[in-house]
Amino acid sequence: MSTDAWTVRKVLTWTTGHFEKKGIDSPRLTAEVLLAHLLALSRVKLYVDLERPLNKDELTRFRALIERRMAHVPTQYLTGTKEFYNRRFAVDERVLIPRPETELLVDHVLQVLPTEEPRRVLDVCTGSGCIAVSVAAERPLAHVWATDVSEGACALARQNVEALGVGARVTVLQGDLLAPLPPEVRFDVVVSNPPYVASGELPTLQAEVQKEPHLALDGGADGLDVVRRLVGVARERLVPGGLLAMEIGETQGAAVRVLLERAGYAQVRVEKDLERRDRFAFGRTPAA
Ligand code: GLN
Repeated sequence: MSTDAWTVRKVLTWTTGHFEKKGIDSPRLTAEVLLAHLLALSRVKLYVDLERPLNKDELTRFRALIERRMAHVPTQYLTGTKEFYNRRFAVDERVLIPRPETELLVDHVLQVLPTEEPRRVLDVCTGSGCIAVSVAAERPLAHVWATDVSEGACALARQNVEALGVGARVTVLQGDLLAPLPPEVRFDVVVSNPPYVASGELPTLQAEVQKEPHLALDGGADGLDVVRRLVGVARERLVPGGLLAMEIGETQGAAVRVLLERAGYAQVRVEKDLERRDRFAFGRTPAA
């Protein structure tokens, strides 16, 4: 029997071939990540132990993971984690999986936040809390508020806030945009990765993306429903010279520029992501 045993090596080879046939992205890597997750090992450890046999229970549970991945459940929902800005966030079906381009949005925000001075930052549509937590962790004097309309997202964001050690400086509130905030608070920065995909485009997205909450993706007919409202309400709650920083869709740069200018923002800029696509829009409230 021992020659027939399902070893780590054999399981990886079989799973990779299976994923390849079914058109799953990065088949070998996906197989390794899922098996490492199942066995609670690092991927490097898998290679140290290629001849380790899997027992019956492990095989049953691994088969279930493969099935779910074949049904286009994103790998990150299966492992329950995603790295963002050098920290590991818990993720599940309640939230959008943090994207690498959103790390650039964090970079832009950090650029305007001095390390030695307290600042107030608001993250709207926080989802997993990845932006709010990253900003709070990188700027130990900052006070960060985070809102999300989804109760489930708020619960997960709170979990990440606590797990990543910024609970004393991050407040997560459930509600629409800025509505749940205490009325007197003013912010130096409002940052958001709002839903910005046009409703009509949702069915054309990758099957994996369709497993993510539509609430986090669907921005209405032109994708700008939430952006339009946010531009208006953020203006009232920023300090003079405060910054609104948003992630946007690659075709939305010109339209968002107009929205920001019409709403009275100054220094309006659209910036690109690493793939040279328009991805971020910025505006400042006029200085006092
Ligand atoms: N960048 C995401 C995507 O490609 C969209 C995220 C969003 O709507 N905020 O699916």
